[in-house]
Amino acid sequence: ASDRNRKKVAPAKLTFEEIGGQENAKQELREALDFLIRHEEIQKFGIRPLKGILLTGPPGTGKTLMAKAAAHYTNSVFVAASGSEFVEMYVGVGAGRIRDLFKDARNRAAKENKQNAIIFIDEIDVIGGKREGGQQREYDQTLNQLLTEMDGIYSSESPRLLVIAATNRKEMLDSALLRPGRFDRHIQVDLPDKKARTHILNLHAGNKPLHPDVDLDKIAEEAYGFSGAQLESVMNEAAIYTMRESVDMIRQSHLSMAIDKVMMGERSDRESNL
Ligand code: ATP
Repeated sequence: ASDRNRKKVAPAKLTFEEIGGQENAKQELREALDFLIRHEEIQKFGIRPLKGILLTGPPGTGKTLMAKAAAHYTNSVFVAASGSEFVEMYVGVGAGRIRDLFKDARNRAAKENKQNAIIFIDEIDVIGGKREGGQQREYDQTLNQLLTEMDGIYSSESPRLLVIAATNRKEMLDSALLRPGRFDRHIQVDLPDKKARTHILNLHAGNKPLHPDVDLDKIAEEAYGFSGAQLESVMNEAAIYTMRESVDMIRQSHLSMAIDKVMMGERSDRESNL
Protein backbone atom coordinates (compact mmCIF):
# COMPACT_ATOMS: atom_id res chain seq x y z
CA ALA A 1 0.00 0.00 0.00
CA SER A 2 2.79 2.42 0.82
CA ASP A 3 3.91 2.23 -2.83
CA ARG A 4 0.72 4.02 -3.78
CA ASN A 5 1.39 6.73 -1.26
CA ARG A 6 4.92 7.09 -2.42
CA LYS A 7 4.12 7.53 -6.09
CA LYS A 8 3.49 11.25 -5.75
CA VAL A 9 6.68 11.94 -3.82
CA ALA A 10 8.44 14.72 -5.65
CA PRO A 11 11.92 16.10 -5.29
CA ALA A 12 11.22 19.15 -3.14
CA LYS A 13 13.37 21.54 -5.05
CA LEU A 14 10.75 24.16 -5.69
CA THR A 15 11.17 27.55 -4.03
CA PHE A 16 8.71 30.32 -3.16
CA GLU A 17 10.27 32.46 -5.91
CA GLU A 18 8.90 30.02 -8.49
CA ILE A 19 5.32 30.70 -7.36
CA GLY A 20 3.72 33.73 -8.99
CA GLY A 21 1.63 36.13 -6.93
CA GLN A 22 0.20 34.76 -3.67
CA GLU A 23 2.28 37.24 -1.71
CA ASN A 24 0.04 37.16 1.38
CA ALA A 25 -0.28 33.40 1.36
CA LYS A 26 3.47 32.96 0.94
CA GLN A 27 4.16 35.37 3.78
CA GLU A 28 1.67 33.66 6.11
CA LEU A 29 3.05 30.27 5.24
CA ARG A 30 6.65 31.34 5.85
CA GLU A 31 5.67 32.77 9.22
CA ALA A 32 3.97 29.52 10.15
CA LEU A 33 6.97 27.50 8.99
CA ASP A 34 9.25 29.50 11.23
CA PHE A 35 7.58 27.59 14.07
CA LEU A 36 9.15 24.45 12.68
CA ILE A 37 12.54 26.08 12.23
CA ARG A 38 12.59 27.83 15.63
CA HIS A 39 11.52 24.71 17.51
CA GLU A 40 13.88 25.25 20.43
CA GLU A 41 12.31 28.60 21.29
CA ILE A 42 8.86 27.10 20.81
CA GLN A 43 9.70 24.46 23.40
CA LYS A 44 11.30 26.98 25.74
CA PHE A 45 8.18 29.13 25.79
CA GLY A 46 5.93 26.11 26.08
CA ILE A 47 4.13 26.98 22.86
CA ARG A 48 2.04 24.22 21.33
CA PRO A 49 3.86 22.92 18.22
CA LEU A 50 2.27 23.63 14.90
CA LYS A 51 1.13 20.31 13.49
CA GLY A 52 -1.19 21.14 10.65
CA ILE A 53 -1.65 23.85 8.05
CA LEU A 54 -4.70 23.94 5.82
CA LEU A 55 -4.39 25.55 2.39
CA THR A 56 -7.75 26.50 0.98
CA GLY A 57 -8.75 27.91 -2.37
CA PRO A 58 -9.89 27.14 -5.90
CA PRO A 59 -8.24 24.42 -8.04
CA GLY A 60 -4.97 25.17 -9.79
CA THR A 61 -3.97 28.17 -7.68
CA GLY A 62 -0.68 26.70 -6.49
CA LYS A 63 -1.49 24.90 -3.25
CA THR A 64 0.69 21.94 -4.17
CA LEU A 65 3.48 24.30 -5.21
CA MET A 66 3.21 26.04 -1.83
CA ALA A 67 3.56 22.74 0.02
CA LYS A 68 6.63 21.82 -2.01
CA ALA A 69 8.17 25.24 -1.45
CA ALA A 70 7.45 24.81 2.27
CA ALA A 71 9.50 21.62 2.24
CA HIS A 72 12.38 23.40 0.54
CA TYR A 73 12.19 26.38 2.91
CA THR A 74 12.38 24.15 5.99
CA ASN A 75 14.82 21.64 4.50
CA SER A 76 12.27 18.87 5.01
CA VAL A 77 11.63 15.64 3.21
CA PHE A 78 8.38 15.89 1.28
CA VAL A 79 5.87 13.07 1.21
CA ALA A 80 2.58 13.54 -0.61
CA ALA A 81 -0.71 11.78 -1.12
CA SER A 82 -4.18 12.67 -2.28
CA GLY A 83 -7.37 12.11 -0.30
CA SER A 84 -8.80 9.97 -3.08
CA GLU A 85 -5.96 7.46 -2.70
CA PHE A 86 -7.33 6.48 0.70
CA VAL A 87 -10.77 5.54 -0.48
CA GLU A 88 -11.02 1.78 -0.79
CA MET A 89 -13.68 -0.85 -0.81
CA TYR A 90 -12.27 -2.64 2.21
CA VAL A 91 -12.58 -1.21 5.68
CA GLY A 92 -9.22 -0.51 7.23
CA VAL A 93 -7.17 -0.13 4.04
CA GLY A 94 -7.40 3.66 4.08
CA ALA A 95 -6.32 3.80 7.72
CA GLY A 96 -3.37 1.53 6.91
CA ARG A 97 -2.34 3.87 4.13
CA ILE A 98 -2.37 6.84 6.48
CA ARG A 99 -0.14 4.89 8.87
CA ASP A 100 2.21 4.05 6.00
CA LEU A 101 2.36 7.66 4.92
CA PHE A 102 3.55 8.82 8.34
CA LYS A 103 5.95 5.89 8.60
CA ASP A 104 7.29 6.71 5.17
CA ALA A 105 7.92 10.34 6.18
CA ARG A 106 9.82 9.28 9.32
CA ASN A 107 11.86 6.65 7.46
CA ARG A 108 12.80 8.97 4.64
CA ALA A 109 13.87 11.72 7.02
CA ALA A 110 16.09 9.23 8.86
CA LYS A 111 17.56 7.93 5.62
CA GLU A 112 18.22 11.41 4.24
CA ASN A 113 19.39 12.69 7.60
CA LYS A 114 16.81 15.49 7.74
CA GLN A 115 15.36 17.02 10.89
CA ASN A 116 11.94 17.81 9.40
CA ALA A 117 9.35 16.07 7.30
CA ILE A 118 6.35 17.59 5.59
CA ILE A 119 3.41 15.38 4.76
CA PHE A 120 1.16 16.87 2.09
CA ILE A 121 -2.41 15.61 1.71
CA ASP A 122 -4.25 17.06 -1.27
CA GLU A 123 -8.08 16.82 -1.44
CA ILE A 124 -8.32 16.36 2.33
CA ASP A 125 -12.12 16.78 2.05
CA VAL A 126 -12.34 13.28 0.52
CA ILE A 127 -11.33 11.71 3.85
CA GLY A 128 -12.13 14.59 6.16
CA GLY A 129 -15.66 15.46 5.10
CA LYS A 130 -18.32 16.04 7.72
CA ARG A 131 -19.36 12.79 9.37
CA GLU A 132 -23.02 12.05 9.07
CA GLY A 133 -24.92 9.32 10.83
CA GLY A 134 -22.22 6.65 10.78
CA GLN A 135 -22.77 5.54 7.16
CA GLN A 136 -19.22 6.20 6.15
CA ARG A 137 -17.38 3.65 8.24
CA GLU A 138 -14.39 3.40 5.96
CA TYR A 139 -13.91 7.15 5.80
CA ASP A 140 -14.29 7.36 9.57
CA GLN A 141 -11.46 4.94 10.19
CA THR A 142 -9.22 6.75 7.77
CA LEU A 143 -9.98 10.12 9.31
CA ASN A 144 -9.56 8.73 12.82
CA GLN A 145 -6.18 7.36 11.88
CA LEU A 146 -5.11 10.74 10.57
CA LEU A 147 -6.25 12.41 13.79
CA THR A 148 -4.42 9.79 15.86
CA GLU A 149 -1.22 10.32 13.87
CA MET A 150 -1.47 14.07 14.26
CA ASP A 151 -2.15 13.82 18.00
CA GLY A 152 1.02 11.74 18.25
CA ILE A 153 3.28 14.44 16.80
CA TYR A 154 5.64 15.94 19.40
CA SER A 155 7.97 18.87 18.88
CA SER A 156 10.74 17.02 20.70
CA GLU A 157 10.68 14.05 18.36
CA SER A 158 12.97 13.67 15.42
CA PRO A 159 12.09 14.21 12.66
CA ARG A 160 9.62 16.97 13.44
CA LEU A 161 6.50 16.38 11.38
CA LEU A 162 4.19 18.92 9.84
CA VAL A 163 1.07 18.03 7.89
CA ILE A 164 -0.06 20.39 5.14
CA ALA A 165 -3.46 19.67 3.66
CA ALA A 166 -5.27 21.29 0.76
CA THR A 167 -8.91 21.62 -0.12
CA ASN A 168 -11.22 23.55 -2.41
CA ARG A 169 -14.08 22.94 0.00
CA LYS A 170 -13.18 24.04 3.48
CA GLU A 171 -16.82 24.26 4.53
CA MET A 172 -17.15 20.49 3.98
CA LEU A 173 -14.51 19.56 6.54
CA ASP A 174 -15.33 17.79 9.76
CA SER A 175 -14.79 20.06 12.75
CA ALA A 176 -12.59 17.40 14.40
CA LEU A 177 -9.93 18.23 11.80
CA LEU A 178 -9.96 21.93 12.59
CA ARG A 179 -9.50 21.73 16.36
CA PRO A 180 -6.47 23.31 18.05
CA GLY A 181 -3.45 21.09 17.64
CA ARG A 182 -4.71 19.76 14.31
CA PHE A 183 -5.32 21.92 11.22
CA ASP A 184 -5.59 25.12 13.22
CA ARG A 185 -3.71 27.39 10.83
CA HIS A 186 -5.60 28.23 7.62
CA ILE A 187 -4.11 29.97 4.63
CA GLN A 188 -6.25 31.14 1.75
CA VAL A 189 -4.74 30.66 -1.70
CA ASP A 190 -6.82 32.81 -4.05
CA LEU A 191 -7.15 33.22 -7.79
CA PRO A 192 -4.42 35.61 -8.96
CA ASP A 193 -5.17 39.29 -9.61
CA LYS A 194 -3.87 40.97 -12.76
CA LYS A 195 -0.42 41.70 -11.39
CA ALA A 196 -0.07 38.13 -10.15
CA ARG A 197 -1.28 36.79 -13.51
CA THR A 198 1.45 38.75 -15.26
CA HIS A 199 3.97 37.35 -12.80
CA ILE A 200 2.79 33.78 -13.39
CA LEU A 201 2.81 34.24 -17.19
CA ASN A 202 6.36 35.55 -16.95
CA LEU A 203 7.44 32.57 -14.88
CA HIS A 204 6.01 30.13 -17.43
CA ALA A 205 7.42 32.10 -20.35
CA GLY A 206 10.89 31.62 -18.90
CA ASN A 207 11.89 28.71 -21.12
CA LYS A 208 10.00 29.82 -24.26
CA PRO A 209 10.98 32.03 -27.20
CA LEU A 210 8.74 35.11 -26.87
CA HIS A 211 8.66 37.76 -29.61
CA PRO A 212 9.87 41.10 -28.18
CA ASP A 213 6.51 42.69 -29.13
CA VAL A 214 4.56 40.39 -26.83
CA ASP A 215 2.78 42.29 -24.07
CA LEU A 216 2.14 39.87 -21.21
CA ASP A 217 0.43 42.57 -19.21
CA LYS A 218 -2.27 42.72 -21.85
CA ILE A 219 -2.56 38.94 -21.92
CA ALA A 220 -2.96 38.97 -18.14
CA GLU A 221 -5.81 41.43 -18.56
CA GLU A 222 -7.54 39.18 -21.12
CA ALA A 223 -7.06 36.18 -18.83
CA TYR A 224 -9.39 37.56 -16.17
CA GLY A 225 -10.37 34.90 -13.64
CA PHE A 226 -7.75 32.37 -14.80
CA SER A 227 -5.94 30.23 -12.26
CA GLY A 228 -2.19 29.65 -12.26
CA ALA A 229 -2.74 26.23 -13.81
CA GLN A 230 -4.80 27.81 -16.63
CA LEU A 231 -2.13 30.44 -17.23
CA GLU A 232 0.45 27.68 -17.50
CA SER A 233 -1.80 26.05 -20.13
CA VAL A 234 -2.09 29.35 -22.02
CA MET A 235 1.69 29.54 -22.36
CA ASN A 236 1.89 25.93 -23.39
CA GLU A 237 -0.91 26.16 -25.97
CA ALA A 238 0.60 29.34 -27.41
CA ALA A 239 3.89 27.51 -27.91
CA ILE A 240 2.04 24.68 -29.66
CA TYR A 241 0.29 27.14 -32.05
CA THR A 242 3.65 28.73 -32.79
CA MET A 243 5.28 25.43 -33.55
CA ARG A 244 2.41 24.41 -35.85
CA GLU A 245 2.87 27.61 -37.87
CA SER A 246 6.57 26.85 -38.21
CA VAL A 247 7.56 30.28 -36.94
CA ASP A 248 10.34 30.85 -34.45
CA MET A 249 8.74 32.99 -31.80
CA ILE A 250 5.50 33.18 -29.85
CA ARG A 251 3.46 36.25 -30.90
CA GLN A 252 0.64 38.07 -29.18
CA SER A 253 -1.90 36.42 -31.52
CA HIS A 254 -0.77 32.93 -30.43
CA LEU A 255 -1.32 33.88 -26.83
CA SER A 256 -4.78 35.30 -27.53
CA MET A 257 -5.78 32.14 -29.38
CA ALA A 258 -4.47 30.11 -26.46
CA ILE A 259 -6.63 32.08 -24.04
CA ASP A 260 -9.70 31.22 -26.11
CA LYS A 261 -8.67 27.60 -26.29
CA VAL A 262 -8.19 27.30 -22.53
CA MET A 263 -11.48 29.09 -21.91
CA MET A 264 -13.34 26.83 -24.36
CA GLY A 265 -11.71 23.76 -22.86
CA GLU A 266 -12.97 24.68 -19.43
CA ARG A 267 -16.43 25.30 -20.80
CA SER A 268 -16.66 21.95 -22.58
CA ASP A 269 -15.34 20.21 -19.45
CA ARG A 270 -18.11 21.82 -17.47
CA GLU A 271 -20.73 20.93 -20.04
CA SER A 272 -19.66 17.31 -20.19
CA ASN A 273 -20.11 17.18 -16.42
CA LEU A 274 -23.70 18.34 -16.64
P1 ATP B 1 -5.63 21.50 -7.08
O1 ATP B 1 -6.53 22.13 -6.08
O2 ATP B 1 -6.28 21.24 -8.39
O3 ATP B 1 -4.83 20.33 -6.54
P2 ATP B 1 -3.40 23.31 -6.70
O4 ATP B 1 -3.91 24.55 -6.09
O5 ATP B 1 -2.68 22.34 -5.83
O6 ATP B 1 -4.55 22.62 -7.50
P3 ATP B 1 -1.01 23.26 -8.23
O7 ATP B 1 -1.01 21.78 -8.43
O8 ATP B 1 -0.07 23.80 -7.23
O9 ATP B 1 -2.46 23.75 -7.90
O10 ATP B 1 -0.79 24.00 -9.61
C1 ATP B 1 -0.88 23.30 -10.85
C2 ATP B 1 0.09 23.88 -11.84
O11 ATP B 1 -0.35 25.20 -12.19
C3 ATP B 1 1.50 24.06 -11.30
O12 ATP B 1 2.29 22.94 -11.53
C4 ATP B 1 1.97 25.28 -12.07
O13 ATP B 1 2.45 24.91 -13.34
C5 ATP B 1 0.72 26.10 -12.28
N1 ATP B 1 0.53 27.14 -11.23
C6 ATP B 1 -0.53 27.23 -10.38
N2 ATP B 1 -0.41 28.29 -9.59
C7 ATP B 1 0.76 28.90 -9.90
C8 ATP B 1 1.46 30.03 -9.41
N3 ATP B 1 0.95 30.79 -8.42
N4 ATP B 1 2.65 30.34 -9.97
C9 ATP B 1 3.16 29.58 -10.97
N5 ATP B 1 2.54 28.51 -11.46
C10 ATP B 1 1.37 28.15 -10.97
